[in-house]
Amino acid sequence: MDAKLQDEPGRIAALRRYEVLDTPREAPFERITKLVRAVLNVPISTISLIAEERQWFKSCVGMPGGETTRDESICTHTIQSREPLLVPDTLQDERFRDLPAVQGKPFLRSYAGVPLRTPDGYNIGSLCALDTQPRSFEPSQIEVLKNFAGLVVEELELRRIAQVDSLTEAVTRRGFLLEIEKAISTFRRSGRSAALIVLDVDHFKQVNDTHGHGVGDCVLREVCAALMPMLRREDVMGRLGGEEFGVLLNTTNLDEGQATAERLRAAVEKLRFSATVPFQVTASFGVACLEPGCDEPEVWLARADEALYAAKRGGRNRTCVMQSRPQAVLA
Ligand code: GH3
Ligand code: MG
Ligand code: MG
Repeated sequence: MDAKLQDEPGRIAALRRYEVLDTPREAPFERITKLVRAVLNVPISTISLIAEERQWFKSCVGMPGGETTRDESICTHTIQSREPLLVPDTLQDERFRDLPAVQGKPFLRSYAGVPLRTPDGYNIGSLCALDTQPRSFEPSQIEVLKNFAGLVVEELELRRIAQVDSLTEAVTRRGFLLEIEKAISTFRRSGRSAALIVLDVDHFKQVNDTHGHGVGDCVLREVCAALMPMLRREDVMGRLGGEEFGVLLNTTNLDEGQATAERLRAAVEKLRFSATVPFQVTASFGVACLEPGCDEPEVWLARADEALYAAKRGGRNRTCVMQSRPQAVLA
C-alpha cells in the first residue's frame, strides 16, 4: 500500500507549496496542453489540480477553463493511483456517466489522465487528454502523456526552487518583492494593512571572521529555521540580502508588527551555536506598516530599513518602528 496516496493533508500541503492555484494562464503550461492535443489527436487537454474541495485548471485547451467541484471531476479518481486512468467511454462507466461535463457541455466521452506526481510522491492533479467521442488510447500515446506530465511537475518545481533561497529556505528577494506588491494591491483595494519587518544579524562579519564562513552559513540557516515556524501561514519570510531578511505580516497593524518583531528578536537571542567555542548572535529589527503614501515596494522597504538603522544606531539587538510621528524605541 502506498501511504502517500492516503495522506490527504500531505498532498494538500505539497500542492500549496507550489503556490499555483488561481494564478493566470502561463505559456509553458499552455504549450504542454496544446502539444497533448496535437500529439494524441484529441479536442481537449487540461492540467487539472485537485484542491481540498475543487478541481482547478492551470491550463485548459478546447473547453472553457475555470474550476469544478471536486466530486464533478474525473481527475479526483486519477490521483488515487500511481497509474494512468483510462476511460474509453464515460457513458459505460457508472462513476462518470452522470457527471455534468459528461451529460452536458462539453459532453466528455473518453478520458486519459496521468497523475502529476511530485518528487516527494504526492499526486497533486493530472494531465488529461479528453475526447467527445468514445475511444481507446494506444500505449505509445500514454507514454507521451506520462512524459508531458513529468514536464508539468518539473516546470512547477523549477518555479518553486527559483523562489526559495537554497541556504535558508526563505523566499528569494525577487519572490519577496512580489509578495510585497501583492500586499500593496490588497491595501489599495480594501485598505487592509500589513506590517513589514526588516531584520539584520548584528556583527555578522565578526561571526565569519571568528568561526569561518561555513559556521556563518549555519547561523543563517538556523536563524531562519527558528523564525519561520513562528510565523502564521499567511506571513512570508524572505532573504533580502546576505544576512538581511524581510518578514511580511499580512493583515497586521503596527503594534502587532512590533510585538511579532520583538518575539522574533528574543528567539534569535535565545539560539546557541557551537563552534570551537560556543557563541550566540543577535539581530536588529525595523518595522513599518502600509499606510497612504507608502504604497510602493521601494518606499515601504526604505521605511522599514530606516527603522532598522535606527535600531542599529541605538545599540543593536532591538526593535524600532517607523511611525508617522517620531519613532518609538523598544529596548
Ligand atoms: P551590522 O551589525 O552593522 O549589521 O554588522 P555586520 O558585520 O553584520 O554587517 P556587514 O554588512 O559589515 O557584514 C555582513 C557580512 O555578512 C559580510 C558578508 O561577508 C557576510 N555574508 C553575506 N552573505 C553571507 C552568506 O551567505 N554566508 C556567510 N557566511 N556570510 C555572508
Ligand atoms: Mg549585519
Ligand atoms: Mg547587512
